[in-house]
Amino acid sequence: MPGLRFFACERCETVYAAPEEPSGCDRCADGRLAELGDADGAAAYFAPVD
Ligand SMILES: [Zn+2]
Repeated sequence: MPGLRFFACERCETVYAAPEEPSGCDRCADGRLAELGDADGAAAYFAPVD
């Protein structure tokens, strides 16, 4: 999906998919979000199911 980026919280590992970086994690007060980079990064994060 064009423009969709992926961000993972470094504290609780919640992953967000959004066009722009969220202001912060919704689950923990001070969770820092790290951008997963691109679709390949997201694919690496979500393990494939056989
Ligand atoms: Zn979090």
